[in-house]
Amino acid sequence: MLEVRDLTTHYGSSQALFGVNLRVEPGQVVTLLGRNGMGKTTTINSIMGIVPATGGSVTFEGQELLGQRSFRTANLGLGLVPEGRQIFPNLSLRENLVATASNHLNLPDPWTVDRVFALFPELETRLTSMGNLLSGGEQQMLAIGRALMTNPKLLILDEATEGLAPLVRRKIWDALAEIGKQGLAILVVDKNLHDLMRIADRHFIIQRGQAVWDGTSAELEADEAARERYLGL
Ligand code: ATP
Repeated sequence: MLEVRDLTTHYGSSQALFGVNLRVEPGQVVTLLGRNGMGKTTTINSIMGIVPATGGSVTFEGQELLGQRSFRTANLGLGLVPEGRQIFPNLSLRENLVATASNHLNLPDPWTVDRVFALFPELETRLTSMGNLLSGGEQQMLAIGRALMTNPKLLILDEATEGLAPLVRRKIWDALAEIGKQGLAILVVDKNLHDLMRIADRHFIIQRGQAVWDGTSAELEADEAARERYLGL
């Protein structure tokens, strides 16, 4: 579904990615792992066209994404939950959900506000609250709901549980496991390997902007040397 090959990206004269490779198959939950500053966000932003890549290729269902504008990439079915949530602060929770809602691909059983509330019941009571008055956990759930309202085929989450209490993190992982079971493909960047092992099919690790390891949860569990070397765990 998504294939990233030999991706390179620069910030001015400084190179951040030196050859990232990863694949997401339909219905898979895949992680992109690596220590701080190794290039995970740059990879996600390069896939989405937010940061222009300088080499390699990124195809989604056979279509090249590099060189596309971000909104076109989104319209092809990639939904981003960005690092830092990026909730519209001066829109209400409901307005945040409907502001970018669409079903460009005419997917059956599209996401609705009610379906988001079924996934995250705590959001329903905050319907009219402004974005900037929501707690961190509520904002994160809203950011996921907002991405789902674009009816993506692939949901991409960048650090979706950063700074959240364990109980809230748990709710978010349970919700992602649930929508993963419903068949949505998910690519997730997160530091919480323990929780990810439970829900992910495959893991890709990058180090200093380069692909260095990939395998299943069982393989990562068994490879203590890789966890120690690449993740410090
Ligand atoms: P973290 O886990 O801390 O979010 P990361 O793995 O997502 O890290 P990136 O944020 O992609 O890593 O950063 C990769 C490299 O690119 C780092 O060396 C970082 O300093 C550099 N970098 C990131 N954003 C910029 C930018 N806007 N301008 C210049 N360099 C940048």
